[in-house]
Amino acid sequence: MLHVSRLCAAHGAVQAVREVDLEVPAGDLVALIGANGAGKTTTLHAIAGLHKPASGSVRVGGRDITGWPCHKVVRSGVAMVAEGRRIAPPLTVHENLELAVYSGRTTKQQQKDGLARVYDLFPRLADRRDQLAASMSGGEQQMLAFGRALMTRPDVLLLDEPSMGLAPSIVDVLFETITTLHESGATILLVEQNAELALAVSDHVYVMQRGRIVSHGDPDEMRSEPEVMTALFG
Ligand code: ATP
Repeated sequence: MLHVSRLCAAHGAVQAVREVDLEVPAGDLVALIGANGAGKTTTLHAIAGLHKPASGSVRVGGRDITGWPCHKVVRSGVAMVAEGRRIAPPLTVHENLELAVYSGRTTKQQQKDGLARVYDLFPRLADRRDQLAASMSGGEQQMLAFGRALMTRPDVLLLDEPSMGLAPSIVDVLFETITTLHESGATILLVEQNAELALAVSDHVYVMQRGRIVSHGDPDEMRSEPEVMTALFG
């Protein structure tokens, strides 16, 4: 479904992503793990159209979307839940979810179905539908960001550090939802600094170090790899 080939991306003189190859087959949950600064977020941003790659390619369902701007990437079926959440604080929960209409990917009926599904996945959002996003807790804002991405009916969902800065009980809720989505057939690329969590839910794991993929395999294989131990424990 998602094919990334020899992707390179830089921040000025910093080569953050070097020749990254990775693949997310349809229906799989693939994790990208690595220490702070390894280049995980830059990789996701380069896929999502938030950072222009220096070279390499990104293909979704056979279509080359390399370097496309973010709104076109969303329309092509890739939605990202960003680190730091990026919801619209002055709007209500419901209004934030309705913003997905601007993705141009959904009919009115699909919007309605999408809202029902998101409220079903996150009952807390349903309870707070008329509340301003700004007044919600960090965990609820993360759920909202997640829900808004799902509203665009993505073919591929990119999750950037969903556990970041959240209380363990909220992290559990989010990871249960990620597992539910995975079981329902969603295709997910998960960036996670908490490697234990990532290994527990994924089908395949890529380990990134200093901009490169240094190892990949299924979670059981990865647990016995020295690179993974370094990524886990520094
Ligand atoms: P984290 O978990 O901390 O987000 P990461 O693995 O996602 O880490 P990136 O954020 O992609 O890593 O960063 C990769 C490299 O690029 C790091 O050396 C980082 O310092 C550098 N970098 C990231 N963003 C910028 C920026 N806006 N300007 C300059 N350098 C940056």
